[in-house]
Amino acid sequence: MPDDNYYQILGLTPDTATADDIKANYRKLAMRWHPDKNNGSKQASEMFARINEAYSTLSDAAKKAEYDLTHNFSDSVGERPFYGFHFNYRTNHSRWEKWNGDDISIGIEISFLQSLRGVNDFPIHVTRECDCPKCRGTCAERTVPCERCAGTGKVVDRSMIPQPCPNCNGVGAILTNPCEVCSGMGRVIVSEDVRIDIPCGINHGSILRTAFAGNGGHLGGQAGDVYSTVHIKNDSPYHREQQTLILKMKVPPETLILGGEVEVPLPLGGVEKKTIPPCSSNNWSFAIPGHGVPKIGMPNRRGILIVSLEADFPSKLTEEEEKVLKEYAKIRKKNGNG
Ligand SMILES: [Zn+2]
Ligand SMILES: [Zn+2]
Repeated sequence: MPDDNYYQILGLTPDTATADDIKANYRKLAMRWHPDKNNGSKQASEMFARINEAYSTLSDAAKKAEYDLTHNFSDSVGERPFYGFHFNYRTNHSRWEKWNGDDISIGIEISFLQSLRGVNDFPIHVTRECDCPKCRGTCAERTVPCERCAGTGKVVDRSMIPQPCPNCNGVGAILTNPCEVCSGMGRVIVSEDVRIDIPCGINHGSILRTAFAGNGGHLGGQAGDVYSTVHIKNDSPYHREQQTLILKMKVPPETLILGGEVEVPLPLGGVEKKTIPPCSSNNWSFAIPGHGVPKIGMPNRRGILIVSLEADFPSKLTEEEEKVLKEYAKIRKKNGNG
């Protein structure tokens, strides 16, 4: 990276930067661009690497002296205009080109019940990069119109073809003083709560798109989107198979043998009573229509709930129970069923 100017990367001016300035700016920038704080963004990792590279040289007196000498910084006189052009945080873009922001991918977790009901205004936390609000991405505190091109950014060559002005790199202005808010980088990281609507019936692993909530565009470019991958917690007694919900319910064995009534808890609350016929087998099952999983975004189009009744055998019998059951077994045997 021959164009990298370590001072610019750290938002400093070579003539005036003290060791304390170098350290302070490094800390500020390293914190801002740490990959962990930027959803693992590739841009942020690149910037973080460059900030570290710059600091490792400028914080070491011997390396810094050599760097200053080879970059002609040691003999500079007077105020050096600040140019931000060489710090390409997006390597395939020029700083003065308008570009669209990148998309951001995040994961969100909802409960099983939320997946059935859907959630409106679900808050997601997005750490996004955007143009600095102070300098609006220009990196500079002040701009002075370029005299050579009269602020147009273009000059004509001998064949009268317009060319980018070599004095201002086609910007039309000379930048002075790096912007304090973004340390001359033109971009800042912001954290925002964004609200999204999660439709009822959503599947585990579904991806929801929130338009323009991603990284901001540069110089008026369009913002990227946020893609949220939905993880549904395994926090429910109901088991989902497409639009069908399955509930395994334990009942006393005598309910299956003698018949009776069970109260089935419904997924969205409430209960449904069901009469069990006598002599029902273990894992006897029945369906309750309209209490399964809704079609995505259609709360009234729900699948079925299948309830399976499993005998809950006692772990211990009282003397009286044992006596009665023995009597029962004796009668069954006498009737030829033993
Ligand atoms: Zn700024
Ligand atoms: Zn110019």
